[in-house]
Amino acid sequence: MNLTYGSETPGTPAVPVYQLQSHNVKELLDNALRVLPLSHPYYNTQQQAKAEINALWELRKRMPVDLLISESFRLIDKYFFFSNIGPHIQLVIHHGSFPWDFYRHSERKIFICTREEPNLPRGPEDMVASVVHEAVHAYLILFATPASLKAEDLGQNPHALPFRVLYQTLTNMICRWVPDPTGFTVICDLDGDEIEAESHHLSSYPGTDIAG
Ligand SMILES: [Zn+2]
Repeated sequence: MNLTYGSETPGTPAVPVYQLQSHNVKELLDNALRVLPLSHPYYNTQQQAKAEINALWELRKRMPVDLLISESFRLIDKYFFFSNIGPHIQLVIHHGSFPWDFYRHSERKIFICTREEPNLPRGPEDMVASVVHEAVHAYLILFATPASLKAEDLGQNPHALPFRVLYQTLTNMICRWVPDPTGFTVICDLDGDEIEAESHHLSSYPGTDIAG
């Protein structure tokens, strides 16, 4: 099945426009993993993504937490999911420590908490990683067919292999981009074990060994 591609204005290179619950999971992964590393004039390739994410990262400890979370979501949606998620969900920033972060599909809401304990603010890096995590959930559930989610075991287990492939790949890429990813995550394989930056443990999925 091919995705529908559209352009915003004549002459603008096409970006994927996803239809709700009408794609298979492999196709969604393939798009998220392949388009960014290729030369993509609409987004001016990885350089622009890297520059914008670095600019946010630089300010992460000084900017208001709500702005950090909303800007993280905007950039992650823009560069990894072609701004397809934002129009369908509401980002809810919760200033308590419970409930923890999640994507609730029935309400189309991503919840992100700002505290570990009532009096303990979360580290900004941890919150940005959670935004990536919940965005991957939303992306897969919003745009994959229920049959495809079931076939990929994502119905019963939202953290099944396709989720981990996508999440690890995106976090690994951000880790390689930002100067000090401490507290964000580490470069890891699909079991969560730390690996060398140049290892290609994810090679069963094309595009997951991207770096830069
Ligand atoms: Zn999760």
